[in-house]
Formats: sequence, C-alpha cells, structure tokens
Amino acid sequence: MARRIKWRSVHDHFSYEVAELAKVTGVCRSTVRNWIRDGLPVITDQRPHLIVGEEFKRWYGQRIKARKRPCRPGEMYCFKCSHPRAPALGMADYIPRNKTGGSLTALCNVCERPMFRACQLHRIGQTMPGVRVSIRKRGDDIKS
Ligand SMILES: [Zn+2]
Repeated sequence: MARRIKWRSVHDHFSYEVAELAKVTGVCRSTVRNWIRDGLPVITDQRPHLIVGEEFKRWYGQRIKARKRPCRPGEMYCFKCSHPRAPALGMADYIPRNKTGGSLTALCNVCERPMFRACQLHRIGQTMPGVRVSIRKRGDDIKS
C-alpha cells in the first residue's frame, strides 16, 4: 500500500521548488520528479522550476480519483491484491460498530488474506448479495 502523502498541507497560493514540495508532502525528491514526468504542471520559464500549490492539488486530486477502484456489490477491497475481490466461500462476517453501521470482514477468494468493507446494517443485502453474512455481537473477537 502506498504511503500517505500530505497533499492537503500544500498551500494554494505558494509556489514550490521540487525539494520544497517533497518536504511539505513527505515524499522523496525523486517522487516529485516522477510526478512531473507523469504530468504534474511545472513552471519552466526560469530556474528553479516551480510548482504552483493549487495546480499540484488539482493534479493530485484527479490522480487519486482515477486510481480508485470502487467495489461492486458482492466485492470487498483486498489490500494485498490491490483489487476488489469476492469473499472466499461466499462467506463474510458483519461486526457492528454502532446501532446502524459496522464493517464486513471476509477472506479474499484469491490470496485468502482478511478484507474489510464498511457497511450499514440495513444495507447488507444490497452490499453483499448472495454472500452468507454472519452478524457478530459487538466486542466479539475477530478470528483469523
Ligand atoms: Zn487478495
């Protein structure tokens, strides 16, 4: 899983050199150079080249959006596979967090690692059609 990038600490009206943007977002300079290669807009009419904070945020926000892989009904996101997967054996557990919401947990049908998906209790049927979901009591241990 990718490290969390502190892109919200970038100021809209500041311009950053590569090293400055790297420091603010908590990444290596080489990562910023890779972003530039991947299309991050840069002002290049003079040295040092500058990245406008607002442009960076717009570019990075679009990049996040484009990379999201939403789960369809019956799928949960497997962080090991980096892909939405169906629960192994068509079975999942629901662990309530409060009266209305909680999380589903199941094993990935490909790598057999645990997967999780937030879910509202009344939507289990729509979220996980065809999956046998066992409702646990709050505070039950999660067996792996
Ligand atoms: Zn998996």
